[in-house]
Amino acid sequence: MSTIKKILVIGAGIAGPAVCYWLRKFGFSPILIEKSASIRKGGHALDVRGAAIDLVKRMGIYEKICNLRSQVEFGRYVDAEGKVLHEEKGEKFCYRQGEDVEIIRGDLVKILIDAIEGVPCHFNQLINSIKQSDDDVEVQFKDGRTEYYDLVIGADGLHSTTRRMVFDKDEYKLIDFGSFFSVFSIPNYLNLNHTEVQCEANQKLISITSDKNPKIAEAAFMFRAQNVLNNIRDENKQQRFLHDNFQDFGWEASKILELMLSSDDFYFDSVTQVKMESWTKGRVALLGDAGYSASPISGQGNNLALVGAYILAGELKQAGGNYHRAFYRYNELLHPFVEANQKLGVLVNESFLVRDEVNREVAEARSNEIMEEVKIASNMISLPEYK
Ligand SMILES: Cc1cc2nc3c(=O)[nH]c(=O)nc-3n(C[C@H](O)[C@H](O)[C@H](O)COP(=O)(O)OP(=O)(O)OC[C@H]3O[C@@H](n4cnc5c(N)ncnc54)[C@H](O)[C@@H]3O)c2cc1C
Repeated sequence: MSTIKKILVIGAGIAGPAVCYWLRKFGFSPILIEKSASIRKGGHALDVRGAAIDLVKRMGIYEKICNLRSQVEFGRYVDAEGKVLHEEKGEKFCYRQGEDVEIIRGDLVKILIDAIEGVPCHFNQLINSIKQSDDDVEVQFKDGRTEYYDLVIGADGLHSTTRRMVFDKDEYKLIDFGSFFSVFSIPNYLNLNHTEVQCEANQKLISITSDKNPKIAEAAFMFRAQNVLNNIRDENKQQRFLHDNFQDFGWEASKILELMLSSDDFYFDSVTQVKMESWTKGRVALLGDAGYSASPISGQGNNLALVGAYILAGELKQAGGNYHRAFYRYNELLHPFVEANQKLGVLVNESFLVRDEVNREVAEARSNEIMEEVKIASNMISLPEYK
């Protein structure tokens, strides 16, 4: 058996727990760490679709996802006065087809964490440095500990610390689309019932969705900003930035911005893609958004993470732990899938945030085009069997 055993996985989002599941199944000993005090809840509904459906079935969690699924039945477009411009059925509005299943991000993370019960999982963990030698990887933690691992997997999201510590600046490109995305929970004060209402004008969009919990709604914001946001990781600055960009928007903007201040699951990020020729260096591999974010509005980040996790762990097994060979195959097999989904991310960014109000014609053409492309991109890989 392989000499590769002890693998540190950094980040308990979607990619981290998923790779732990497959690593353990294939005979390795993963250890998961996360910087937050607990799993981060909230987020918008994500679609598990295409090749990822097959994987969640193999993991035995498809039923659980279906049981917790959210299912928007109607999507409604309104103008700044709240007048309904157009309405679509949920399937089309959310690009849902066949066995695709929609679930709130935090619920999916919880299901994945439950699926790796027994894998050591440590919260409130931060690393200071990662140093590699021919024999192992030395990781220094902020609390003063030093630990040694056979491999390290960075699944720490778009702003990955692992990427910054291990890769040179010219080994990755962050493509900033100049737009932003935010989502947080508010009370369902519009009494929406399995419905999403969306108001889009002047390159800004607000949506409010209420689904299986009638008391709660998710408010989401997407916009292209004329002004610059310095220090994007500071939550107070993010909220002020959102406020400044939407205070004159009309519709429900003022009310939602007021409710934002008491929301406990505020999420905000720039619409950014990560491009790299290789996601591996020595004994370190990047996984999910850390290596190949297709952007938070592509709708495909979780599917890339689920597929990437399976292939990375599977190739390590297939190569008998020969990580050079496994990493080479991981890069080779996954690149076309990532590229197709990053192309989709560009299309979504260009199709939304139009200057004018969205009429029926624009909305239908956009939904049809994105739905077709989503189907192609999410199935653009044949999953190898790792027996
Ligand atoms: C709270 C939250 C809400 C989101 N909401 C949406 C959404 O509504 N729509 C959408 O399309 N995408 C959303 N995303 C992004 C989406 O989850 C990812 O695009 C996708 O699922 C890929 O997952 P990932 O595991 O690679 O990254 P992520 O889901 O971002 O997970 C990365 C994890 O790593 C942790 N982490 C970061 N740095 C460190 C560190 N130095 N040490 C240890 N742990 C670290 C983070 O806290 C996080 O738990 C959200 C992400 C987060 C964190």
